Amino acid sequence: MEYEAVIGLEVHVQADTKSKMFTRAATGYAEPPNTLTDPFVLGLPGALPVMNLEAIEKSIKVGLLLGCEIARTCKWDRKNYFYPDMPKNYQISQYDQPICIGGGVEIEMEGESRAVMGSHRKVELTRIHLEEDVGKLTHYEQDSLVDYNRAGSPLLEIVSEPDLFSPDEVFAYLNSLRNSLVYAGISDCDMEKGQMRCDANVSVRPVGESELGTKVELKNLNTISGVRNGVEYEIKRQISVLREGGTISQETRRWNPDQRYTTSMRSKEMAHDYRYFPDPDLMPVKIDEEWIQRVQAEIPEMPFDKQRRFMEQYDLPYSSTSALCPDKELCDFFEATTKICEQPKKSANWIANDLLRELAAAGDENGPMPLAKSKMTPAHVAELVSLVEDGSISSNIAKEIFPEIFASGKMPSAIVEEKGLKQTSDTGELEGICTQVIAEQPKAVEEFKGGKENAINALKGQVMKATRGQANPKLVDEILRKLLAN
Ligand code: ADP
Ligand code: MG
Repeated sequence: MEYEAVIGLEVHVQADTKSKMFTRAATGYAEPPNTLTDPFVLGLPGALPVMNLEAIEKSIKVGLLLGCEIARTCKWDRKNYFYPDMPKNYQISQYDQPICIGGGVEIEMEGESRAVMGSHRKVELTRIHLEEDVGKLTHYEQDSLVDYNRAGSPLLEIVSEPDLFSPDEVFAYLNSLRNSLVYAGISDCDMEKGQMRCDANVSVRPVGESELGTKVELKNLNTISGVRNGVEYEIKRQISVLREGGTISQETRRWNPDQRYTTSMRSKEMAHDYRYFPDPDLMPVKIDEEWIQRVQAEIPEMPFDKQRRFMEQYDLPYSSTSALCPDKELCDFFEATTKICEQPKKSANWIANDLLRELAAAGDENGPMPLAKSKMTPAHVAELVSLVEDGSISSNIAKEIFPEIFASGKMPSAIVEEKGLKQTSDTGELEGICTQVIAEQPKAVEEFKGGKENAINALKGQVMKATRGQANPKLVDEILRKLLAN
């Protein structure tokens, strides 16, 4: 029997706020353990919560940019459980009245031609609610240590419908979601720092069946690729269990990224196990139209909208836009370049290929060098494009000096001047060289004259070599053809 997979994701994102969600203790990463705490974070008796306005505002923003309906009242519930990551023994969360309802995440569909945009769809969201993060446990052979630094940080839980159908769609969903949230300044969404975390619910069913199969919840998916790999493995596991006549039990399984398989952790708890009830220490929050309008006005253009606009307005190819658009700073850099350079396609090409390559090469284990730290400016790119355009240098020379421009921050014209790289457009000089090359390469000449058009490239190559790449290629072509016609 053929099976198909159905996946729903629960993504947790830490909203980037200065202080925690219900207290003034600071948020932060990589601080000494248990230094970002106060009586409320530690759950000491008598400590009372005070709502962080910025956390609500960021949640409204996420809801608006994902097209959700924003609740007009949001209230707080206690989710009760006993575990060392939560000293109060309850987590303040939202149960039946989440701050955002519905909405969707735009993804690129797999299998369609990637040469054009338009093969996109929206993955439906169920809800987004706001809750406080819990502490972090680190397990050792004998002991477990707890760090409450992240406890109480505002955490958005973004729940999708079971509306994803392959590991690649899961991958596309997480990238799209992360890009949008980073664009809007909600969070850096760095999964390695735990700013974005994902649980994947995976089930399979016979193709053609409309009922959902029993789902398994996957945990410990620590990178976006890890989610894709874990989901891929789990789909295969479930299909083979069913093919062998077994049944899937509803449970939570842990992905082991090194050995690449999932293992059972526990059977799933039910909502009633948590004994949710409204938090008596917190008032519901009213969200009015004016507030929503104000937040709406702060939402920047979203990545895929920008990509569509770049293709339309600057006539950029899909390949350039898909390299540029996940990164807002890179897009701003590109648009600044277009203001001083009338060749958007050319500058996009330099930015999407050469600049990205140099940034990656200058990076470290944390990733590429951030654009803001590099010495490259839109003026460098614009000047390089115009030097090639006006024939001052060949594009080969431009390619060659790019790394030096990047490393030194010197203007391209200064490097060209310094190294004497200006392209030779001196017809007399080039004619002399061409005549000599023709005399030295009788075989290529004969082939060309015999109708083998490509043979001219060998001659051009020799001219380029003789001029150290500085001959104007267009001119060389013209001169060679003229001489060969005689
Ligand atoms: P629970 O009650 O176990 O928390 P929910 O119905 O709240 O389950 O769903 C949690 C997540 O699991 C959602 O993202 C949802 O889309 C997904 N999900 C629910 N049922 C399935 C299923 N049968 N297959 C895949 N994903 C599912
Ligand atoms: Mg649920």
